[in-house]
Amino acid sequence: MSKFLSARFADLEAYVPGEQPQDMQYVKLNTNESPFPPAPAVLEAVNALEISRLNLYPDPECRALRQKLADFYGVKMENVFLANGSDELLNFFFLAFCDEERAVAYPAISYGFYPVYASLYRLPAAAIPLREGFRLESGDYCGIGKNVVIANPNAPTGRAISVSEIEEIVRSNPDRAVLIDEAYIDFGGESCLPLVGKYDNLLVCQTFSKFRSLAGGRLGFAIGSPALIEDLDKIKYSTNSYNINRLTMAAAIATIENNDYYAENSRRIQENRAYTAGELEKLDFETLPSQANFIFTRCRRMEGGALYRALKARGVLVRHWEKPEIADWCRVTIGSREQMDVFLEKVREILKEVD
Ligand code: PMP
Repeated sequence: MSKFLSARFADLEAYVPGEQPQDMQYVKLNTNESPFPPAPAVLEAVNALEISRLNLYPDPECRALRQKLADFYGVKMENVFLANGSDELLNFFFLAFCDEERAVAYPAISYGFYPVYASLYRLPAAAIPLREGFRLESGDYCGIGKNVVIANPNAPTGRAISVSEIEEIVRSNPDRAVLIDEAYIDFGGESCLPLVGKYDNLLVCQTFSKFRSLAGGRLGFAIGSPALIEDLDKIKYSTNSYNINRLTMAAAIATIENNDYYAENSRRIQENRAYTAGELEKLDFETLPSQANFIFTRCRRMEGGALYRALKARGVLVRHWEKPEIADWCRVTIGSREQMDVFLEKVREILKEVD
């Protein structure tokens, strides 16, 4: 730390992204990326013509892409906000809607960025414990009188709550904003987007990083009432008005136009998820039911950190946290069948050595 850093950030603990090692080829099952490349039409859309226009700023209103998303989800362009990854959207949400008087609540075990934003903006925050089996109890958020941020399905557990449970949370906190982070909704979950027209305090956030194979393009979006979108715009135009670059916009439009390709990839991932959980069960693992493109799993014969390290030494990366409540567990991204077979083979090898 330099002597120039503002004192208010001295104790800030920054978010630690999953490893992106450059030293060797790992089977990468640690950051919930898609194992499938973007659709061929996306490669065509990011072409020499688009690149030749990089001397010009992109449309700050992102009209073409917002309209595409609006048509796809049956809403109006005024309901759509775009961000540089959903991480930026979360940042804007915490900045725009939370303060000393408007505290924020989120699950104690969830996406690690939520507490970082709370700490960055020095917000009063309530980390609500999960229940038995890492289950999120919607009643814990009803009438809470705080802004609410919930990942559904939750990360790293993969467990989801129903749309009617979400509706209860939104309905019972009419004077507070509720953000439902649906980063993993397209792997078998049910989106709460249909609620947006009914409630002016609901913001639904999704990403192009998982289902839409565009993590490197950095694009997230939110759908909510025009007034909420206007508030987010105020923050955007006060920080970075050109937050979505030209190439990402072109790629994203082609992505939406090729939804069938991504739906088929999701079907394969869900198939591989069931296959992987089934094989792990035979190896004495406990795996939570998952609606996401990852599973949260625990080996009854080995501590989570030891499994993570043994897998890494064999070229397979999974995610592990030292946090005591989840130290026994690893989060494993569901990749291609070939990747999952390598993962399972390495687990079998490791367990043989433990016996
Ligand atoms: N929300 C959740 C629950 C996530 O797990 C992630 C990614 N790890 C994000 C948001 C951020 O995704 P991105 O910024 O790539 O859109």
